[in-house]
Amino acid sequence: MKKEIEKYSRDYMRFLTVAKTERRAYAEAVRLLEAKGFKNLEDVKALKPGDRIYRGYHGKTLFAAVIGREPVTSGIRVVGGHTDAPRLDLKPKPLYEKGGIAYFDTHMYGGIKKYQWLVLPLALYGTVVKKNGKKIDVALGDAADDPVFMISDVLPHFGKEQLEKKAKDLVAAEDMDVVAGLGSVADILKKKYGVEKDDLLSAELEIVPAGAPREVGLDRALIAAYGHDDRVCAYAGLHALMDLSKGQALSKTCAVVLCDKEEIGSVGASGMESSFFENTVAEIIDRQARSARDIDVRRALERSQMLSADVCAASDPHFPDADSVGNEAKLGGGPCAIKYTGAASKSGASDARAEFVAEIRRTMDDAKVDWQMGELGRAEKGGGGTISKFMARFGMDVLDFGTPLLNMHAPWELASKHDCYHTMKAYRAFFAR
Ligand code: MN
Ligand code: MN
Repeated sequence: MKKEIEKYSRDYMRFLTVAKTERRAYAEAVRLLEAKGFKNLEDVKALKPGDRIYRGYHGKTLFAAVIGREPVTSGIRVVGGHTDAPRLDLKPKPLYEKGGIAYFDTHMYGGIKKYQWLVLPLALYGTVVKKNGKKIDVALGDAADDPVFMISDVLPHFGKEQLEKKAKDLVAAEDMDVVAGLGSVADILKKKYGVEKDDLLSAELEIVPAGAPREVGLDRALIAAYGHDDRVCAYAGLHALMDLSKGQALSKTCAVVLCDKEEIGSVGASGMESSFFENTVAEIIDRQARSARDIDVRRALERSQMLSADVCAASDPHFPDADSVGNEAKLGGGPCAIKYTGAASKSGASDARAEFVAEIRRTMDDAKVDWQMGELGRAEKGGGGTISKFMARFGMDVLDFGTPLLNMHAPWELASKHDCYHTMKAYRAFFAR
C-alpha cells in the first residue's frame, strides 16, 4: 500500500508541476486521456459500450467518459471537480511605471488572504491572442533559469503603522501589483516575446506562486503545493476514470468533469452554471440513439449520480474556532464526505439525501476506502460551496466528497499523501460499484 501511495503521489505532483492554470490542467488532462485511448467526441460518429471519449470547451472545461453497457438515458456516474485556483489576473492594460519600477497591475481571482501573496516568488502563465488570432503561450517563472516576479511589502522598521491595521487592510487590492522589472519592460515584451502592448488587451495572464510541489515533514507524509484546490480531486477523478480497464464496459457510463470558474461562483460559459454538461450528455445520446430528444436528456440527467469532487477544510489544531467540533475533517483521515455545504442555516446548500449517503457509505466501506464524514466548518463562522448545487438542479443525487486540506486557498496548500491516494480510490469505487 505504501508503495502505491508513493507512486500515486509522484504522478500527482508531476501533474501539478505542469497544470499551473486551468488551461494547462486541461491540456495535460487531454494528453493523458489520449495516451489512454480516449477520443475527441467530435471525431466519433457512433458510440458503443467500452468506448472512451472526451469533449472540451474552449480549452478550459473538460468532460471525459467511458461508455457503459446501459444507454446513457439510464443515468451516468459523474465525478466532478474544478481546475481553476485562486490567483492574481493581469488587468487588460497591466503595464505601468512608478518611481522607476515597472509593474503589472493585477485583479484578484477567487478568495485569497491578500497578505499571503506578498514577498513570494511568483510565476506568469497564460495566453496572449493577437488580432490575427495567433496565440502566444506564456510560461515564465518555473524553469530553473527563468526570472520570477514579486509583490513588495514595507520593511519592519517602517511597518509599525501597517501592523496596527486589520489583516485584511495590510495591503489594498489595488496595490497587489507585481514588480515586472526596472524601467520600461514593454520593449522586452515586443523584442523577446513578439507581444505588443495592445496585444495584452486580448490576453489571459495569471500570476501564480512559482515553484514545484514539495514533500513536507520528516516522514514526507504531506505535499505542499499551489492549487491542491481542486486539482487534487480533479486528478484523482481523472486517474480513476483512466484506470477502468480498457474494453471492459461497466453497466453505467462513468464520467469526470473538470470545470473552470468554480472559484468565482461557477459563472460564465466555462463554469458549471453553463449548458456545457447537458449539451455533452445530449451529444452522447445523439451518438447512441441517432437522435437526442429533450426528454431523453432530462431523464439521463435526473437518473445520474454525482460525487462533487472538491476539497474541504481539514481541522487545524491552531485554529480550533473554525471547527464544527466532533464533525471536523481530520488531515490524514481520508477523503471527507460533506452532506451539506452552505453557510449558517444551510443557506445556499446542496443537501444530499440520506438514501444516497447510505449507498456511498456501503460503496466506500466495501472497497476498503479510508474515508470520513464531516461538516464544512463551525456554524455562523462562514461557509462555502462547490459545483454540487449546479448539478443537483438537474434532479440528480449529489454528494460532496473530497480531500481535506490545511491552509486552503493559500499560495501553498497542504494535503496528506494518504488522503490524496484514498480520494482516487474512492472515485474508482464509485465508478466500479
Ligand atoms: Mn474547490
Ligand atoms: Mn476553492
